[in-house]
This record gives sequence, structure tokens and C-alpha cells, in this order.
Amino acid sequence: MPPDPASEARFSPDYATARERFLTAAEGRAARVASHPIEARGPKGEELAVDTAYLGPEAPERLLAVSSGVHGVEGYAGSALQLQLLEAQLDGLSLPADTGLLLVHAVNPHGFAWRRRVNERNVDLNRNFLSHPDDHVANPSYEGLFDAINPTRLDEETDQRSREKLLGFAGEHGFGELQRVLTCGQYVHARGMQFGGHDAEASNAILRRIAAEDTRGAGRIAWVDVHTGLGPYGIPEMITECPTDHPAYRLGKAWYGDSAKSTQAGESVSAKLNGVMEHGLEESLPGDCELVAYTAEFGTYDGLRVFWAMRADNWLAAHGEEDTEKGQEIKRELVEVFRPDDPEWRAKVLVEGARVVEQTRRGLLS
Ligand SMILES: [Zn+2]
Repeated sequence: MPPDPASEARFSPDYATARERFLTAAEGRAARVASHPIEARGPKGEELAVDTAYLGPEAPERLLAVSSGVHGVEGYAGSALQLQLLEAQLDGLSLPADTGLLLVHAVNPHGFAWRRRVNERNVDLNRNFLSHPDDHVANPSYEGLFDAINPTRLDEETDQRSREKLLGFAGEHGFGELQRVLTCGQYVHARGMQFGGHDAEASNAILRRIAAEDTRGAGRIAWVDVHTGLGPYGIPEMITECPTDHPAYRLGKAWYGDSAKSTQAGESVSAKLNGVMEHGLEESLPGDCELVAYTAEFGTYDGLRVFWAMRADNWLAAHGEEDTEKGQEIKRELVEVFRPDDPEWRAKVLVEGARVVEQTRRGLLS
């Protein structure tokens, strides 16, 4: 598919606009649309919901699924990709009669609407899909670095000191280990960064219901979950938590080539994570369903810049005030690191994203 001049326009300015455009485009295709509202509301009091659009037969053999916004503020790119799919790419996909297409919009609508990566209860949803509390994994190094990860003040001096502590840890144990400690999840501090939750969150339950019901008994499912923030600028890495001897890993390599990576093999831009959505899908689908689920992670800026932005946002939510100059600056930077204000980045994401969808379609049908 050639680059589309409309690509910049497909990036919506906010959740409410993105939602409305998604629903309108889905209805324009006569898709079966369903909305799963959550209790919390948006900044203008608007309803927040996980919306789905389904196109295809009542009982598909195979299913192509694309989800967006598990990490709230990362949802701009995924939503734009879904809009592109509905408005343009669908015509060229020519899915066979036995194959369905399922789009899941804004799995974390609160984070999308309020410009946070986490949800309404400060939970990183992509660490929430495990058995609570049995599978809560201890993260002792996180405890040791707690004050530097979650400073109570963010003045220049505290900021500097805590950055030095984190970089000192990286100097001693390597950046990979720092990344693992900071991102794998923690299940203790409800207001801290990378909190995976104490229970299954509302969006977790909704996603499981969608996986169980809206996949309509398909025997083979290819699921792409769109994220941003890690890796080279505008380029997707296709990430799985499956080990390299798992069929889904081998299929991913065949479908996506070198961009398919397993966190378990240490080859990914992402560290090994706990409680990812992939597990929730697996658990919610019938045992004989073949699932090939990949995170499409589109890079933005340097990993440290992204992390500092997330840390500042967590500080803002826990200790600061958004309606201040500093608060607004933190919000601007958070959005920038997950959705660069750059037409080239956006065009690249949509071109590469269309390629990922096409590769997935081909793989699913092979
Ligand atoms: Zn993400």
C-alpha cells in the first residue's frame, strides 16, 4: 500500500475524537459494533468504553484481530492504524469468506482520555493479566531503588540525585537489568510506577470477555496489539512473550521476519514482563484455538527519555498538580514520547503498520 497523504489526519487529537471516528468508520463498513463502558469518566465527563468492531461471518474459521490503547496514551497510533484499516486498507485486504476481522479500540480508555499510560487505578494493564495474588512476582531491586523511581519531589536536586542512583545501578548491573527492574512490573505499591494491580482490572475483565465471545469460536487467531515508545523511530518490533520453541514464535518469524522477537530469548527491545495481555487472551480462548499474538511496538525516542517522562507523570499523579505550568509540561512531554508531534513519524507508523497488518493477514491465511 503506498503512503497515504491522509495519514497525518488519522491521528486524532484526543480519545473522544478517536472513539467517535472509530465508531463512525465501523458503522460505515456495516461492522457489528459493541461498546463496553467502564465506570470512570473522561476529562469532559464523557463516557469511556472499550469498543469493538467485527466484520465477517457469524462463525469464522480464522480471525485477524487488532487492538489499541492497552497503554492509554500509546493509543493514538493504534487508533490511527485501526481507522486506516477501516477507511482504506480493508478494500485491499480481500479476506476470504471464512475469515473475520475484529478491532478492539482503546483497551484502556481512561489512560487514553486522561493521557496516562496506566489506567484509572494507576495500573499498567499489560502487567495485570495474571492470577492475583498467587502470581505476584517480587521485584527486590525495585524495592531498593524505590525512592529514585518514585521520588516524592521532582525539584532539580531530587531529580538529579535519583537519576544518578538509577544510572549508578545500570553502571553496576547493566542497562538491560535496569530496564527489567523498572518495567517487569511490581504488585506492592499502588501509587508507584509499573504497578500491576492487586486484582483483575475492569479492562482486563472486558478484554477476556471479548476474547471469549467476540472471537466467535475461530480456530485460528492472529492478534496484533499496537504499542509505542520502545525501539527505533517509527519502526515496529513484533514482540512475543513466547519462548523460541513455541509454535507462535516460529510462525512470527515466518510472518514478520527479523522484526519478530521473543522477550524470553533476550533479543527484544522489551524486557521479560509479567502479566501481559497475551496470557489473558490465551486463558480466555478455547484450548484448541491456535493463537499467534504479537505486540507491534513502534519506536519513538531514546529509552531513558521515555522512562523519565513516565516517571514524571507518575510523580504528577501521586504528588503534583496537573493544572500548573510544570504539570502541563509533564503532560506535553508524556504525549510527545508516545506520539511524536512529527508528520514523518506518523506517516511511517501508518505505512509500517499497514505492512504489519498485511503480513499478519498473509500469515493467518497460509
Ligand atoms: Zn505499551
